[in-house]
Amino acid sequence: MTWQNILRQNITSWEQLCAFTEIDLIETKNVNFPLNLPVRLAQKIEKGNLEDPILKQFVPRAKENEKSPFYQVDPVGDQPSRCAPKSLKKYEQRILLVTTQACAMHCRYCFRQNFDYAKQKGFQEEISQIKGDTTLREVILSGGDPLSLSDRVLKELIDDLSSIPHLKRLRFHTRFPIGIPERITPKLIALLKECPLQTWFVIHCNHPRELDTDVLQALKAIQKCGIPVLNQAVLLRGVNDTIETLQGLCETLADNGIHSYYLHQLDRVQGAAHFEVSQKEGKRLIEELRTRIAGYAVPTYVQEIANKHSKSVIF
Ligand code: SF4
Repeated sequence: MTWQNILRQNITSWEQLCAFTEIDLIETKNVNFPLNLPVRLAQKIEKGNLEDPILKQFVPRAKENEKSPFYQVDPVGDQPSRCAPKSLKKYEQRILLVTTQACAMHCRYCFRQNFDYAKQKGFQEEISQIKGDTTLREVILSGGDPLSLSDRVLKELIDDLSSIPHLKRLRFHTRFPIGIPERITPKLIALLKECPLQTWFVIHCNHPRELDTDVLQALKAIQKCGIPVLNQAVLLRGVNDTIETLQGLCETLADNGIHSYYLHQLDRVQGAAHFEVSQKEGKRLIEELRTRIAGYAVPTYVQEIANKHSKSVIF
């Protein structure tokens, strides 16, 4: 089956979800960010367990409708950083392209769940802007998820970016392979191999159960192209806030040559307050992790603060 057909089978209806998980989730019908869950991830949810760490990440809960002080629609200041319909400029040398609204899954804590995505097709304005800014060295393809784009659109974009002399690096920010590893097709691999820019892949995985054999094989295919694969995780209450889970995640990543890059403090987006872990607790977990596994396998614990010119290191 093609990855597009697998994507079309995503669970998006409550009836399907309840039947699949054997959990009555009717409490949660009215949420802003729609349910969107790949079957692969749904299969990893323990039947009947409302506390399951995969379920918590992807299945809407009534708590999302609670308004919490200090939680915002745009917690990381995306909107003020917008410099073209589909680009954000926050940091020196780098520009981020919001390539698409589409994702393989909807994560309940996503800081971009309220983003006002541009409707127009193509990237003409953004490419002109990148050509005109010779301080830029790296383009980050984000979204949504850039691997939601077809290979044709990705190739056109990569070709346009590769023709800009001052650009040296291309970075993918993607969670797609975690839900639908079938996206890493031989055609995509060929396209990545041809890219003259040094390419980096930054995946997003929070729990070791997300990394099954198919997912790891897909990531290995990317690594075999000479593309480094890094992971960003978000510290989430009830998902990965135990030392055993974090150790399991970091060790599995290290065993597969994937660098644990960042552990993010939760971005305070409205509706996600129930996911927050205190920084005191996060520091304690990282400290403990350092005593248990190799230093290179321990992520840097960071926070994104709106209007700051880099990530802020917590620990
Ligand atoms: S995959 Fe990324 S962009 Fe998409 S919903 Fe999840 S966190 Fe947000």
